[in-house]
Amino acid sequence: MKSAGVKNKLMNLVCKECGAEYDIQPKHYCSECFGPLEVAYDYDIIRSNISREKIESGPLSLWRYWDLLPVETRDVVTLQEGFTPLLKAERLGKELGLDNLYIKNDAVNPTYSFKDRVVTVATTKAREFGFRKIACPSTGNLACAVSAYGAVAGMQTFIFIPHDLELGKVIGAGIYKPFLVRVKGSYDDVNRLCSEISERMKWAFVNINIRSFYSEGSKTLGYEVAEQLGWRAPDHVVVPMASGSLLTKIHKGIIEFQKLGIIGKHPVRVSGGQGLGCCPIVTAFKEKTDIIKPVRPDTIAKSLAIGNPADGYYAWKTINETGGAAESASDKEIVEGIELLARTEGVFTETAGGVTIAVLKKLAAQGVIDKKETTVAFITGNGLKTIEAVTGSVIATDPINATMDDFDDSLIEYWLTSRKSPNT
Ligand SMILES: *Cc1c(COP(=O)(O)O)cnc(C)c1O
Ligand SMILES: [Zn+2]
Repeated sequence: MKSAGVKNKLMNLVCKECGAEYDIQPKHYCSECFGPLEVAYDYDIIRSNISREKIESGPLSLWRYWDLLPVETRDVVTLQEGFTPLLKAERLGKELGLDNLYIKNDAVNPTYSFKDRVVTVATTKAREFGFRKIACPSTGNLACAVSAYGAVAGMQTFIFIPHDLELGKVIGAGIYKPFLVRVKGSYDDVNRLCSEISERMKWAFVNINIRSFYSEGSKTLGYEVAEQLGWRAPDHVVVPMASGSLLTKIHKGIIEFQKLGIIGKHPVRVSGGQGLGCCPIVTAFKEKTDIIKPVRPDTIAKSLAIGNPADGYYAWKTINETGGAAESASDKEIVEGIELLARTEGVFTETAGGVTIAVLKKLAAQGVIDKKETTVAFITGNGLKTIEAVTGSVIATDPINATMDDFDDSLIEYWLTSRKSPNT
């Protein structure tokens, strides 16, 4: 709803390829050239409304950046997502030889992944458009987020997932009682089915017909990192990639802050990671071609398992234009990444975060990331959702009797297996 007399921060939707313009509406591709549509803002209006002080006095959620998000209503669908911790990672940095490493811990969002950022925006926008039903194809985390936000918005919710997802994600979505559809096939099959359904049903598919608005939620990770670093841009960011959208939007957020004069001008290098068994963007980067060749996913990083990434080309372009790099991580390296982050920083991440840490480690070892660079690694999902991946990582005693004798025996075993004396 537009209020009379107030100038609108939202201008229109613009095709990223041919520049064709469309009114603000639930539409995600250009009728002329089929390119993706992006929200265009009136930055003069935003500049006159925004300041560091105003942001700092805003809510402790990503809605402190309301002026830069593509909604007009103040009545947002929120679970207080965002404004997650930015941790100075001294111990991990020491192991990797990085002096200024930070971890952005987005595993602690309301449904335990960064997808709450895109879904709070998409649900709010869908309601603003007048939709009563919300839906998505998902690799898992989006299913959890849409189910929860659909519940608080009082909307009917339809979720489509590949049949072989981790239990933590099936339950983490199902508990909110959406209509949960398990599809035989990969995410790409699920996505194709949903595109067909969205032609027929008047539903808000958050990452299909609402995608231009949805994806803007990811910009807030860029804003937050800049604010939490004391109003400055990092030198280098390392981001996990599925469709590639998150990576491009973190960069966009930081650049918008620079354009608006909220932070100083400063180049940011953007690097990306994928699981080795599904790394079409990394392959294109390494082969120096802008053609992203679809693959059939086979990786434990299921949340990143998109074989035909919608924003793959734009992620590739951002990585190249900013002087970043792309790397992949094998299943074994992903598990080692999860263990390394837990052991050094006390953060338990899911397999996507294992990819981030494994790729961070490789890029540091290759010298792609400089020792002195202020580097932020994005941890986008919670380890409790993918416990299947790390059951082999955990050692515990057989059950002991509640006696001092059994306890003493277990101490000796601890000493033998860990080679650490319990008294030092
Ligand atoms: C969806 C997801 C990503 C990547 O999202 P894209 O924007 O599709 O690249 C990263 N990490 C986790 C945990 C996710 O669920
Ligand atoms: Zn176009």
